[in-house]
Amino acid sequence: MRLIDYIEKLIEQDIKVIPIKSFGKSYREAKEPLIPSGFKHTNYKSKDYIETACRLTRRTYYLVKNKKIAAFGLLGAINEFIILDFDRDKFPCSKYEHLFKALSKELFVERTPRGGFHAVVKAKSDSDLHLRFYSKLGEIDNKTFGYIISHPSRLFWSGKVAKYLKLEDSPDVWDTSYLDEVQAYLDLLEIEIYRGVKLGGVRANKSLPVYDFGIDELDNKQLIALLYLIAREIGCKGLAELYRAWFEKGIIPLKNYVYANNRGIHFTFEVTTLGILKTIGLSYERAVNFVREVKYVDGIKETSPENTSLRNVYAYDERNLVVRGLCPFCKNPCIFTPLSKLLMNIQRLDIKLLRRVLVELH
Ligand SMILES: [Zn+2]
Repeated sequence: MRLIDYIEKLIEQDIKVIPIKSFGKSYREAKEPLIPSGFKHTNYKSKDYIETACRLTRRTYYLVKNKKIAAFGLLGAINEFIILDFDRDKFPCSKYEHLFKALSKELFVERTPRGGFHAVVKAKSDSDLHLRFYSKLGEIDNKTFGYIISHPSRLFWSGKVAKYLKLEDSPDVWDTSYLDEVQAYLDLLEIEIYRGVKLGGVRANKSLPVYDFGIDELDNKQLIALLYLIAREIGCKGLAELYRAWFEKGIIPLKNYVYANNRGIHFTFEVTTLGILKTIGLSYERAVNFVREVKYVDGIKETSPENTSLRNVYAYDERNLVVRGLCPFCKNPCIFTPLSKLLMNIQRLDIKLLRRVLVELH
């Protein structure tokens, strides 16, 4: 179906959409929405928001008809859609492609140009819009209070084109199923649904703060040096020594002497390291690249991006797995773990300065 016909269908079904720039110098620019600033999707019940959404829907139609744009954004909450975004970097999309194909028999499922999936579920009530979705397999972005670029949109930039296409058997978005009709499929993707706070089986976790010290631009070696400086500053000598050896030899002198099949100390080291980096602002994308540096003297390496520590720290935010108890890296055990010491000292530590020193010495 041509884009203009699809938009007409959406309007017939009273589905609200927004225009997307569609053309640009970069993919990022082409993806930009054409919406007024302050158009907040959490205001989905307010008269102003609804009026603006109606106006933007008409504008999308006009712009598509006149070939000014080739893409649109499908809004979530105002259309009573729950929108789940499975990003290839955060969720093993290709591994579970067969499940998404099965899901697409009942739900509107589209493939994104980057190899991820968007799934749209119809909400039965307002409270369905506020559900939270977790999966043990990876991270799910909930775009219900936002939008997704949607089938059959296309983006154009510097001679390239990206297509958003629903899967072959997938219903159109206005025919997508209700949540309770697809429960069995969601189970296959190990998706658990919570109202408000997480319940049962999953640790109630107090979320820890994240600071942005602009460390994404540091290279992996510089990040290890920064970890060394931080470990010294918070007085974790044992941990600092591990980082120093890692920096100098490219190998972490930690042996997994506990159990052959238990990651024990390795896991603690990684959750500590990634926990520190996440806390001072390392993005998930950079962390994926960083875990490639993890090599232990006993020959064990890390795999990215499906590394368990990475998933615990970034997807589940289980940085507090090791927040309590003794620090396992120091000979005279510290009373607090490195992450709790970092959090206690973060205002005092001049991480921006440490970062600048590293950049300037480079
Ligand atoms: Zn320590």
